[in-house]
Amino acid sequence: TSMEGPTSESRAPGKPASLGAELRAQQAPQSRKKRPEDFKFGKILGEGSFSTVVLARERATAKEYAIKILEKRYIMKENKAQYVKRERDVMSNLDHPFFVKLYFTFQDDEKLYFGLSYAKNGELLKYIRKIGSFDETCTRFYSAEIVCALEYLHEKGIIHRDLKPENILLSEDMHIQITDFGTAKQLSSDALTSTSLTYLIFQKIIKLEYEFPEKFFPKAKDLVEQLLSLDPSKRIGCEDMGGYEPLRGHPFFETISWGDLHVQTPPKLT
Ligand code: ATP
Repeated sequence: TSMEGPTSESRAPGKPASLGAELRAQQAPQSRKKRPEDFKFGKILGEGSFSTVVLARERATAKEYAIKILEKRYIMKENKAQYVKRERDVMSNLDHPFFVKLYFTFQDDEKLYFGLSYAKNGELLKYIRKIGSFDETCTRFYSAEIVCALEYLHEKGIIHRDLKPENILLSEDMHIQITDFGTAKQLSSDALTSTSLTYLIFQKIIKLEYEFPEKFFPKAKDLVEQLLSLDPSKRIGCEDMGGYEPLRGHPFFETISWGDLHVQTPPKLT
């Protein structure tokens, strides 16, 4: 629209649309597009291979966001347009307290901007590194939040495919906010297709090659074993096994009250 600034691109027939034009074309209708000038940018929160995430305060509302900035030229050069689109499309479909929310997107000539909820306490990995290992109460609480988050995601037919402590961010009040949907998959109604498995890590996954550390909580061990069943139809939580209910009912989660996790006070990570 006319509010978007200098955006009209002309292109020769047969030439693929620019990244900017393509993202714009698929955009949902919304109120006026925001612009970089609408924000006061602050500290850098982190850097990815193709992006920089910067803390920003919206001038009009004083609201804080983590704005992910991607350089269009670099994305195109490195052939990452499909991952950027995937991330935007999947994230704009999510509305749940345990996921980073994508509030808005805009662009200028050089860059794409994604306005995300600011996960003030950063990566779960940081706490794992600091603490070494969580006590059972914290382990239970955070694994319960992850189960809730995945139930929501899977109900929407989305698989994350890269869930790990770097991608589980923590809000100011220490609840999880899962992020990084660049490699997520939205399932269509047709069946799963197999991916070519080339890397060693994938070999380990399919051969179920893993070990438990010495002091692993016994009930948690039983749960992990049931989650990692090689036969997907035998995994606790899967549809054939009765869905999420038996997963939530596993003895490891006995003391979890599931209905109101996101308003409970998280146990202190010590
Ligand atoms: P790569 O693209 O290499 O896989 P990445 O996915 O971590 O890296 P970004 O999504 O750009 O790349 O994130 C860069 C860093 O910024 C992350 O390590 C994370 O710690 C921080 N970060 C990302 N999103 C947020 C957010 N919503 N709130 C707070 N910090 C964030």
